[in-house]
Amino acid sequence: MSTTYDIVICGAGIAGVSAAYFLGRAGVRNILLVDERPPLSFTSDRSTECYRNWWPDPEMVALMNRSIDLMESLADESGNVFRMNRRGYLYVTADEDRIEDLKSASFRTSSLGAGPMRVHSSETSDYQPSHPEGFHNSPTGADMLIGNELIRKYFPYLTDKAVAALHVRRAGWLSAQQLGMHLLETARRSGVRFETGKVAGVDVEGGRVRGVRLSSGVHIQSPIFINAAGPFLKEVGKLAGIDLPVHTELHLKAVIKDALGVVGREAPLLIWNDAQTLPWSEEEREALAEDDETRWLTGTFPPGVHTRPEGGGSDILMLWEYHTNVMEPVDAPAMDEQYPEIALRGLAAMLPRMREYFGRMPRPQLDGGFYTKTRENRPLVGEMGVDGAYVIGAVSGYGIMSACGVGELLAARATGSELPPYANAFVPSRYDDPEYQKRVENWEDGGQL
Ligand SMILES: Cc1cc2nc3c(=O)[nH]c(=O)nc-3n(C[C@H](O)[C@H](O)[C@H](O)COP(=O)(O)OP(=O)(O)OC[C@H]3O[C@@H](n4cnc5c(N)ncnc54)[C@H](O)[C@@H]3O)c2cc1C
Repeated sequence: MSTTYDIVICGAGIAGVSAAYFLGRAGVRNILLVDERPPLSFTSDRSTECYRNWWPDPEMVALMNRSIDLMESLADESGNVFRMNRRGYLYVTADEDRIEDLKSASFRTSSLGAGPMRVHSSETSDYQPSHPEGFHNSPTGADMLIGNELIRKYFPYLTDKAVAALHVRRAGWLSAQQLGMHLLETARRSGVRFETGKVAGVDVEGGRVRGVRLSSGVHIQSPIFINAAGPFLKEVGKLAGIDLPVHTELHLKAVIKDALGVVGREAPLLIWNDAQTLPWSEEEREALAEDDETRWLTGTFPPGVHTRPEGGGSDILMLWEYHTNVMEPVDAPAMDEQYPEIALRGLAAMLPRMREYFGRMPRPQLDGGFYTKTRENRPLVGEMGVDGAYVIGAVSGYGIMSACGVGELLAARATGSELPPYANAFVPSRYDDPEYQKRVENWEDGGQL
């Protein structure tokens, strides 16, 4: 059996769905979206669903600003079906010595196009708290609150040790599933077809894509093939003879019921910005230190543990990348059962009432997925290296927030339309430049939480 399409997209995660939507919007009609799983059910189903334009890399700031513009107009035209809010990200520190560094890094990010910085140090400041729902009438940039009294006036659940808090304003969260379904349904109305199937081969003849083969034996003719295979980007790239420079890391997330109301229900995403040792009792610490397998639990843990309220009930999400787990993608990765307890204890540094759950933590739900990353944590969007083959992915821990931006960019590449100024920062051929390679080797901050 053989069929013909103008474009075949492999992968119906948020990246592939967004590519289909923006190609449809650009007027391409005969598009096939193929996935061996149901749409939006693999990595795109696992995320914290947060977004921000606050990145240390100017190209990423530009991409995210564009992506957020697009999400806001989709929210407006759909009656905000995906419940986009603008609560922001709040980075909190208890370390006086780090205030100046946090401030100067923030002024730098602000200067890259992320919006103005405002520093507030007294209770008479003109700081505007965020609205819990919706995204209109909210400031951009960031507000830095200095001093515990000021911080706890607005965020009373935070520790009395907090000395500074950076509130990033063009940020918040949304329903990734609803955003994805809105893109998919609109794409389908513009003629995009979805089929269940595994792409098992890409036919390349004379240096050009001619079509794809599914594992069912079906052969599809198409001059354009788009690799949107998420964690399987590398594997699918190889089908076209291309070795894409990506690796995958397993990242976990725990959800518990916060019946005691430790996290304010109107809170932004709360991030503890300091390294720490976990709070154990003397006896616990001694017991853990005695055993080679558990001693690491008494050592220093990195900054970055974070949480946010989820939904209308009492759920909260808890996340912390306390060690990087580079591994090949698999369907059902083994979970680190200690993760919820460690994240909960880590959060107690920022939210002291978390201690009330020590020894009686509500039963956690634990899940996880794969970040697909390049070395410098920029995405791959554009020509793969064979005529007619494109890639959209390597969207790491920011695939939801960047989806509209990368989808629009991919559609512009594939239809030969005008490209935005950041396009070349994300095209795979950037690595052909030895100067860029050198920059990548010394890249310091990928900006990932
Ligand atoms: C714990 C966690 C928290 C996160 N938090 C955030 C966040 O707060 N904000 C944010 O923006 N991002 C976040 N992310 C990242 C975000 O979820 C991902 O970047 C995004 O979902 C990746 O989308 P994708 O479409 O590239 O991949 P996927 O969603 O994995 O989709 C790829 C699809 O390709 C299909 N596929 C692969 N190979 C084949 C083949 N050969 N044939 C057919 N189909 C194939 C797969 O079945 C899959 O459905 C988080 C991720 C994790 C794991």
